Amino acid sequence: MDLNTIVEVKRPSSADDVRWRDGYAWLAGGTWLFSEPQVKTDTLIDLASLDWPSLSASAKGLDIAATCTIAELERFKTPPDWKAGPLLRECCRALLASFKIWNAATVGGNICLSLPASPMVSLTVALEAVFTLWPRGAAPREVRAVDFVTGNHQNVLRPGELLRNIHLPADALARTYAFRRASLTHLGRSTVLLIGTRAPETGAVHLTVSAATARPVQLAFEHVPSAEELRRALDTGIADALYFDDVHGSPAYRRHLTYYLGEEIRQEIGR
Ligand SMILES: Cc1cc2nc3c(=O)[nH]c(=O)nc-3n(C[C@H](O)[C@H](O)[C@H](O)COP(=O)(O)OP(=O)(O)OC[C@H]3O[C@@H](n4cnc5c(N)ncnc54)[C@H](O)[C@@H]3O)c2cc1C
Repeated sequence: MDLNTIVEVKRPSSADDVRWRDGYAWLAGGTWLFSEPQVKTDTLIDLASLDWPSLSASAKGLDIAATCTIAELERFKTPPDWKAGPLLRECCRALLASFKIWNAATVGGNICLSLPASPMVSLTVALEAVFTLWPRGAAPREVRAVDFVTGNHQNVLRPGELLRNIHLPADALARTYAFRRASLTHLGRSTVLLIGTRAPETGAVHLTVSAATARPVQLAFEHVPSAEELRRALDTGIADALYFDDVHGSPAYRRHLTYYLGEEIRQEIGR
């Protein structure tokens, strides 16, 4: 849609050139920004002009620029020893997305929107990513993905703060995984998205619950839990009030699916 409150689009060559004020918004793919009125925004600052290289793989893991599109990440060929490589593709496909959204939406835009159904949040929490944030007028800081989203459409970003980079560590990428997702319609917005990972050397298991809850929750186990251990961890780790309520599912439905799919993941990951 046309945003009739916008009077200027800036295209800086460096983020340092931006003197932040109320009314500014960073523009990534624009798929959400242009999908509804932005009455408090008069200026868009286009991140594309910063020209950040999208993806960089090394022995330390994978660095993803916030401006990398979800389509680019989906096409990225991961090395065979990154057992969790196919999880990147599964999460990239876990959006309600038309062709246009699919090709324009960025990894950073999806994370900064911080919807319960944001699959880039699910992915980065499950693989224990670290985000590099660029505050305005202060030194960069690092935040763990699991600490970034604080609620539905809420996160730790301060006014004008920019998500610059997402680092997926190699040891997390080397884990085996199991993925479960439910939505009311085929290719619909996620009602529940669960990811289990298992470390090859220690056998440690992590279960990440997202979309079901207003913010992602990660449960850690030293080994594959028993069915009873998993149920108890879900009971204590996720308060009933944290289950999300919208047209895609009631809290009771989301809670039921979380336990059901969590048990499926437990069995798959323990094989
Ligand atoms: C039809 C439709 C279906 C959708 N389905 C889904 C879905 O299933 N799941 C889902 O999660 N979302 C969905 N969305 C919402 C949205 O399109 C996606 O979340 C998309 O990934 C947002 O990315 P973007 O690059 O287009 O962000 P933009 O729209 O450009 O920006 C989103 C927000 O993040 C801010 N931002 C962007 N990049 C940065 C950065 N690097 N640092 C700081 N702030 C930043 C912007 O200022 C803005 O507030 C849907 C939208 C539409 C219109």
